[in-house]
Amino acid sequence: SLVDNIFFAAKIEHDEPGFSNEEINVSDITQLAVERFAHNKKAIKMVNNIKAGLYLHVDPVGFASVVNNLIENAVKYADAATDVMVNLSDDGAAVYLTVTDSGMGISESEKERVFDKFYRVGNEDTRKTKGTGLGLYIVKRFVEIYNGQISIEDNKPVGTIFKLSFPKSIA
Ligand code: ATP
Ligand code: MG
Repeated sequence: SLVDNIFFAAKIEHDEPGFSNEEINVSDITQLAVERFAHNKKAIKMVNNIKAGLYLHVDPVGFASVVNNLIENAVKYADAATDVMVNLSDDGAAVYLTVTDSGMGISESEKERVFDKFYRVGNEDTRKTKGTGLGLYIVKRFVEIYNGQISIEDNKPVGTIFKLSFPKSIA
């Protein structure tokens, strides 16, 4: 997944060329990502509410990378034996993806910065997790390319909610 992120970050910087806009089943891709993380060493339970049969005109590899990075983060930055929730829904205008964890949370001042390339919260000496800081950079770039929106909210009482939306109409 590190190699995937490095390749994809390089590709996404030059956006459109080589980027596919076919109509893809995002419900299936989201379901697959959830299953990929269902058995994890931290005994984190994946709880999902994925509406079946939702389609978007987006690059399939890119969409998979977005869902995988968000779920990977949720599992990585949450305590053992907590729940991670993945929701996919829609209305007439857009498809909505949310990934919710009960982990350490992201402070107000870090909420914008976590999307920066190579940015990681804290410092190398105190950090327990490994990473390159590319995951959320990719996620945000992908959302921007398709004119979607992304925000970070606090989960109650603890943790983080990533909320994404993708318009159904082709930009
Ligand atoms: P990579 O994804 O490239 O392997 P990474 O996970 O460190 O490395 P990002 O996914 O871009 O990088 O996340 C950036 C930083 O944001 C993380 O290092 C972490 O500090 C913070 N972060 C991301 N997701 C969460 C989360 N769900 N809860 C708490 N902190 C988070
Ligand atoms: Mg990450």
